[in-house]
Amino acid sequence: MPLSLETEEFSNKQAFIDSLTNESLTGLQGIAKSDLHNHAGRGGTIQYIGEWAKVSIQPPTEPFQSLHGMQNWFVEHVKVHCPGIQGYLKRIEASFVQAAEDHIVKLALSFGLNEIDNLGGMESFSRIMDDFHRCYIPQTRFLPELALDRACNVDEVYARLDTILASQWFRSIDICGDEFAQPIAGFKSIYKAAKAAGLTLKAHVGEFGTADQVMEAVEELELQEVHHGVAAASSPQIMRWLAENHIQLNVCPTSNIMLGVAESYDTHPIRNLYEHGVPVTLNTDDLLIFNQSVSQEYLNLYKSGLMTPEELNDIRLIGLR
Ligand SMILES: [Zn+2]
Repeated sequence: MPLSLETEEFSNKQAFIDSLTNESLTGLQGIAKSDLHNHAGRGGTIQYIGEWAKVSIQPPTEPFQSLHGMQNWFVEHVKVHCPGIQGYLKRIEASFVQAAEDHIVKLALSFGLNEIDNLGGMESFSRIMDDFHRCYIPQTRFLPELALDRACNVDEVYARLDTILASQWFRSIDICGDEFAQPIAGFKSIYKAAKAAGLTLKAHVGEFGTADQVMEAVEELELQEVHHGVAAASSPQIMRWLAENHIQLNVCPTSNIMLGVAESYDTHPIRNLYEHGVPVTLNTDDLLIFNQSVSQEYLNLYKSGLMTPEELNDIRLIGLR
């Protein structure tokens, strides 16, 4: 008789908890997980790119002063070793390879408009990405995400949205980059069109911004998920509101620490969000910079004493549902 789903879930749960308590990274890597916040061009491992480029890339040792500082580090330490289209494709390959190695069974990779243009438009772009998916992680639910720059010209993006959505390839939409570049309400027309096309609506908010801005963004754009959103932890009222409305926050602890958003793993706001019933998931953000896989993020939160193995399993299941 085949294993029932419940039995399978139970045995995974036990294996996950055992792997955490034994601090076994290999054990964790064998268990199904999701990664729902991963910028595709920066989603591989430093080691994979270093081996390909035949250089030794050292991960950053200190927090960055700003997003700009992070971007500069990436250009100077990683991009310099993988230039042009060939280098870009190698970085994309690295993202799929690492997801396979970490047993990511549900993977949202985000891509910018320039990435579509650089590969010759939607048709060739999506074909190349689908080939990577088929080649490296055919069993994984691949959820491509369209990531718009918060500083973009909204009218220009809106004008080309139809062509992009017509391919029905993207599964979700996001806004990333400088949270303060322009008011998020300006993206309303784009999000209406994305909703009509059936995309899951997400945006980067409450990483550097405030709890109020998280609520405002969710209301204005009808977001179903928020990337980061950790600022909400400063407001019990907004956390309760997020919980009641089932707004999922895709949290990236190491990214938060390296960008000065959180001080440490053992004080990370995910604890507070979780206690208030906000659905949270654990994700990588930019693995080629922050250098921590999803399995390592689970281990980081466990080893710091912030979350119990049972709570972390809960979070794992939220990501998989
Ligand atoms: Zn991000």
